[in-house]
Amino acid sequence: MLMKCGRCLQQVALGEMKYAKDGRTLICQKCRGLSVKEHLEKIKGHDASPETKTRYACTDCGFSFSRGNITPKRCPYCAKETIVLQEKMSSAGLIDDA
Ligand SMILES: [Zn+2]
Ligand SMILES: [Zn+2]
Repeated sequence: MLMKCGRCLQQVALGEMKYAKDGRTLICQKCRGLSVKEHLEKIKGHDASPETKTRYACTDCGFSFSRGNITPKRCPYCAKETIVLQEKMSSAGLIDDA
């Protein structure tokens, strides 16, 4: 038997549903396992993750690479301190990578 989760409104098997803290609303395991605080922390953690990459290039050897929050001092290829910031990576920029 499928029931509608009171929070995400998805059809979930009744056996996987549990009552929310109010004791009336049935919500799925997924919604139960994620408190508002945890949800916010997940978003925060996501922002700090290396997924927001900045693109750097070495002016000496021409090697280009991307890093997260930490700005590299040396080129990972030739180890010279000739790193320049190229651009923030965008989805459009990823195509040029190929
Ligand atoms: Zn749900
Ligand atoms: Zn280099």
